[in-house]
Amino acid sequence: MRLLIIEDEEKLALSLKKALEAERYAVDVSFDGEEGYEKASVESYDLLILDVGLPNMDGFEITAKLRQEKVATPIIFLTARDMPRDKVIGLDTGGDDYLVKPFDFEELVARIRALLRRGTTSAAQPILQLDTLSLNPATQKVTRAGKTISLTPKEYSLVEFFLRHPRQVLSKTQLIEHVWNDQADPFSGVADVYIGYVRAKIDKAFPGQKQLLKTLKGRGYSLSDEEEKR
Ligand code: CA
Repeated sequence: MRLLIIEDEEKLALSLKKALEAERYAVDVSFDGEEGYEKASVESYDLLILDVGLPNMDGFEITAKLRQEKVATPIIFLTARDMPRDKVIGLDTGGDDYLVKPFDFEELVARIRALLRRGTTSAAQPILQLDTLSLNPATQKVTRAGKTISLTPKEYSLVEFFLRHPRQVLSKTQLIEHVWNDQADPFSGVADVYIGYVRAKIDKAFPGQKQLLKTLKGRGYSLSDEEEKR
């Protein structure tokens, strides 16, 4: 899952980025309102974390413009303690949640998880599952047929993205956009390499189980428990 932080306190923004990357999110950062808005409008993020007071365009303006453009990405506001009205305005302009600074990092992570669950098939069910493959976003534990699978952070993000879009065809571009940050080169073949690693760990290591991760020639990949269509 890929997040964008728009926050002009650079120290806070960078420490958040680092902490969220440790939670296995791909994270981009912008210190400027207008630049952040452009990124959010052009790139495909799964969630935005917005400061309110920002240079060139404030968090509310960014939200209002994005919602006008039908960008429905969930938004969490970081609001200042002395501005209680900000919460109301933030939610009214189309934000989904807010945290008052200084906030508890664990709480931010829990709210990110809750917002990412919303609007997906997994809304009612925090554990993501397909066939005998399951992933618990809270503990980051992945199992197949009850056996724990050890994954690197990138492999984990890839499995999580597939499990949030079960049986859908995902193009290589979509995978790069949601699993890697803006430093990734979409033409580097990095997605294919990681698909290979993930397939070895979730499918090939379990020869008695259904092979879930499918390559659809010329279209992309799909994590599916259905028989391949001919
Ligand atoms: Ca600020």
